Amino acid sequence: MTGFCTRFAPSPTGFLHLGHVASACHARDRAGETGRFLIRIEDIDPQRCLPRFEQSLRDDLAWLGFVSDGEILRQSDHLPYYRGILDRLRCQGLLYACTCSRADVQVTAQGRAPDGSLVYGGSCRGRYHAPDQPHVWRLDMQAALRLLGGSPSWQESEGARIKGRAAEFGDVVLGRRDNGVSYHLCVTCDDARQGVTLVTRGADLFEATSVHRVLQDLLGFPEPRYAHHPLIMDEAGRKLSKRDGAESLRALRAKGLSAPELIALARQVL
Ligand code: GLU
Ligand code: ZN
Repeated sequence: MTGFCTRFAPSPTGFLHLGHVASACHARDRAGETGRFLIRIEDIDPQRCLPRFEQSLRDDLAWLGFVSDGEILRQSDHLPYYRGILDRLRCQGLLYACTCSRADVQVTAQGRAPDGSLVYGGSCRGRYHAPDQPHVWRLDMQAALRLLGGSPSWQESEGARIKGRAAEFGDVVLGRRDNGVSYHLCVTCDDARQGVTLVTRGADLFEATSVHRVLQDLLGFPEPRYAHHPLIMDEAGRKLSKRDGAESLRALRAKGLSAPELIALARQVL
């Protein structure tokens, strides 16, 4: 039997920290000897993703000994591909343009989605917009779920089948204003076209899986399994994050820790 195809998909928005190492270990372990482990660079956010972070990410992974079994896919190199996939959903009548500002979205929001994001109030649904008005593309979630006969579930590896909660997300953005694509769209497309059969990622992305399952079923993509792993927390019990200045691998390296020592540290959480 051949093993799973897994991936580690960091975004170059800062330096890698121990949480990333844990995630990469998890993906590589689950691929095992007989599967494939892929590295993918998720850099569609032009504001937050910087070349120097991408370079350091590549250096750190190589230093740690993580090698992708196949080309390292860089999402920003494939924007026309994702936009083409989005067109398929638009042709199915499942998208609408939303011209709301961030402030509009906040004022008219209908609470929070399971992942903590605001649920869009829907004021642009079914409304005409001039083509030259700046806009995002939103999924008409109710229309999508009608077509699918409900919110798709997923199989958590070595666990239960999890009930999807896509309806609670409302009309998520699939095409951003700046580049016409989105995290939900790109991650779903790439897991499918790279043949990923087991999506391993941190528990902070558990809820987003409901949205990814909807897109997979709408687009006729195969359904992968999922393994959401625990996150490494800081002393205050918050997840490590680049934003809060979690100690970077660079810094730990500079203190003299070796690659095997860092990997052993990261593994303690898995
Ligand atoms: N690029 C995402 C991140 O760095 C991970 C995406 C995923 O694993 O689905 O948070
Ligand atoms: Zn709107």
